[in-house]
Amino acid sequence: MKVISSQLNKLVDYEIRRFKNIGIQNVIIGLVIGVIWLVSFYEIIRFIYPNYLYQYSKSFYFIAATVGGLSSSSYFISNFFFFLCYRGEYEFIEKFKTNPDPWPWKENPERFRKLLPITLLRNFCNTCVIMPGLILLSGLVRKSKYRLDLDTMPGYIEILNHIYFILFIDDLFSHIVHRLLHIPSLYRLFHTQHHEYDTTIGVASLHAHPLEYIFSNLLPSLIGALILGERVHIISIYAYTIVKNFNSVENHCGYDFPIYPIRLLPLSIGGNFHDFHHSHNAGAYSTHFIYWDFLSGTADYYFKIRDEQDIQKKQKALNASKISQETQESKESKEKKG
Ligand SMILES: [Zn+2]
Ligand SMILES: [Zn+2]
Repeated sequence: MKVISSQLNKLVDYEIRRFKNIGIQNVIIGLVIGVIWLVSFYEIIRFIYPNYLYQYSKSFYFIAATVGGLSSSSYFISNFFFFLCYRGEYEFIEKFKTNPDPWPWKENPERFRKLLPITLLRNFCNTCVIMPGLILLSGLVRKSKYRLDLDTMPGYIEILNHIYFILFIDDLFSHIVHRLLHIPSLYRLFHTQHHEYDTTIGVASLHAHPLEYIFSNLLPSLIGALILGERVHIISIYAYTIVKNFNSVENHCGYDFPIYPIRLLPLSIGGNFHDFHHSHNAGAYSTHFIYWDFLSGTADYYFKIRDEQDIQKKQKALNASKISQETQESKESKEKKG
């Protein structure tokens, strides 16, 4: 009982510190962005689905094409956004960079020139060949029983609940697979490619061996919807598909934007959590929430480093304020003497 209550206290402490770091102003902006996204998505899909999509919804190929198309397009759109950020090197964006090391193209331009074409090829293979191929071949999607009708189209709250549930289940299975991939023999065979980026960028998200992509990314994202069965509508699955892809790219983008709405979900991982996994290669296996790493103790090293960095930041701020106070005092004493 004591252990459970101490673990719960730690979780509460984690959440309080996370929201303190985000700050009330950014929480409000993040909420506004989240609401704008949800309302826009809902209004667009409420118009498109009954008028253009519903008539084809009985076809399995329709489901495969729409989910696959949304997945690829949201992945490429979010990467295009980050490409513009990297290219522009805007000061107001660069200040959110999580890793103090330079971007890979600056740190080792020659290595990056060799790595980038391979990364783009892996991105293309995984999103445009393996993902649609597997969805088409897989009996999993065929057997799923989700709702397609117009009478029970979900509302905002139902969509949000389903996104959270499917992400939660996705996180559990991808966490397990990710931990298995860190067994030395499996790591050498399948996961070493993904860790070629120790400072991550958006496209590093799918810089992965095809088998890693299937077992760690694709299959875990199907399980939540299969569990929900007819309790989930295809519209919720569309919403989840967009969120999942944006989140996957955001986890690797190399920035920690405090206004990012997904970080407002309860017990979400911090923006630098997956970045920490790449830079330190020690624990921090989950990609959406803190639950599984917290329960299995694989976030401990992350917490230790985070605490040390917090102390260093506080010390730096204290030193800076001492120096400015001393400068001010010496200025005043000079003025008095003068
Ligand atoms: Zn890993
Ligand atoms: Zn990664």
